[in-house]
Amino acid sequence: MLLDALIPDDAAGAAATDAWALIVALYPLCRSLTGDGVRQTLDRIGERIPLIRTEVPSGTPAFDWEIPREWNLRDAWIADADGRRVVDFRAHSLHVMGYSVPVRRTMTLDELQPHLHSLPDQPDWIPYRTSYYREQWGFCLRHRDRERLGPGPYEVVIDATLAPGHLSYAESVIPGQSTDEVLVYTHTCHPALANDNLSGIAVAVELARALHQAPRKPRLTWRFIFGPGTIGSLAWLSRNEARVLPPPPAGEGWGGGTGRVSAGLVLGLLGDPGVLHYKHSRRGDTLTDRAAAHVLRGTEAKLLDFEPYGYDERQFCSPGFDLPMGRLTRSPNSTYPEYHTSADDLSLIRPAQLAKALQTLARLASVLDANRTPLNLSPKGEPRLGKRGLYGSVGGGAPCAFEHALLWVLNQADGTRDLLAIAERARLPFEQVEQAAAALEHAGLLRTLDAPHESEPKGPSP
Ligand code: ZN
Repeated sequence: MLLDALIPDDAAGAAATDAWALIVALYPLCRSLTGDGVRQTLDRIGERIPLIRTEVPSGTPAFDWEIPREWNLRDAWIADADGRRVVDFRAHSLHVMGYSVPVRRTMTLDELQPHLHSLPDQPDWIPYRTSYYREQWGFCLRHRDRERLGPGPYEVVIDATLAPGHLSYAESVIPGQSTDEVLVYTHTCHPALANDNLSGIAVAVELARALHQAPRKPRLTWRFIFGPGTIGSLAWLSRNEARVLPPPPAGEGWGGGTGRVSAGLVLGLLGDPGVLHYKHSRRGDTLTDRAAAHVLRGTEAKLLDFEPYGYDERQFCSPGFDLPMGRLTRSPNSTYPEYHTSADDLSLIRPAQLAKALQTLARLASVLDANRTPLNLSPKGEPRLGKRGLYGSVGGGAPCAFEHALLWVLNQADGTRDLLAIAERARLPFEQVEQAAAALEHAGLLRTLDAPHESEPKGPSP
């Protein structure tokens, strides 16, 4: 298999240690939909893998949306009459509601209350709040601290700019033998939250790094996209319609592209102690869905049906795109108490949990990449395998596992089934079926049908 050693089991620990180090480095940066915290995040990712960066100007339309103004926060605080900061952005970046407009005022507690957000049921945690599309400002704080506030007055300062600028996203592309693509999207817009967005970023970086360093070119082209949630995937899709839409005349005016996306995943929330969850694509029977079901069978992982709620699969699986993109997470969003609070910190995630997620993801990636549709070139009767060195020379015994897989592949390779379908029909691991197919291809008994978009030859033309 081309990618069989993508992240071998004995290398998963080291990859997870690197992922952990990246998470620790990124945790303090103040990220949002836009701004310098996102750029610094992309800088750090760019030290690990090659990146192509894109800056989309504020006001640029993206379907029914438009790129917002750029938000940069320098400092923010609530100080009492003695000048003591009772809420301080420098202590925790979650203290300021994301996209707060600038403010500099003196206010009583009563005036300040409508701008404060806390969690009475979790009094020691700071909530994560944003207001991207409505102009307002706010502070988030521990409910225990909120209850201690006296009547004031307080100096209230949010030293921020909200001005025309850019939205930043980045891609890392590993060219394959084919220009058909696998998309991997992970969001980069959350500030000091470890599991939600940093674990996804770090795991995506490690998978991309393994693909970049693989000794052989992958079969498919792999495209990793690091961008903010919702508006980032909308911005990317609006600039890549021709790449992802099916060719005309498919659909009611929704075609017009080259339809090069074979599979895809949205990644996030991969470091917490919960079991892995795979959420199906909108279509529910795409290559990604079939490969995930195969890889996760027999593990503790759970499969989830598609629903139009969650992360960026909402955009990739909107009806006008309907891409074969599923989502891999540990605990799904909103289902664990630390979600979107300061308790989603470095203590929630563990390198061992990252390692397990990486191993599963690497196996899924290997299956997606190696899957292909074989055609039996000697379909009338069984070809003689013994004379080609593929079958035991002593008759009478039951076939060994490899010979068994050879027979299944030859029998099913009528050009209508891919290797994954054959593995399912034969109830064999994909890797065994793929190994048999590779041997049969080598022996000239099989050829691959689906290589519709071969890469352009590299180098100067003659
Ligand atoms: Zn989130």
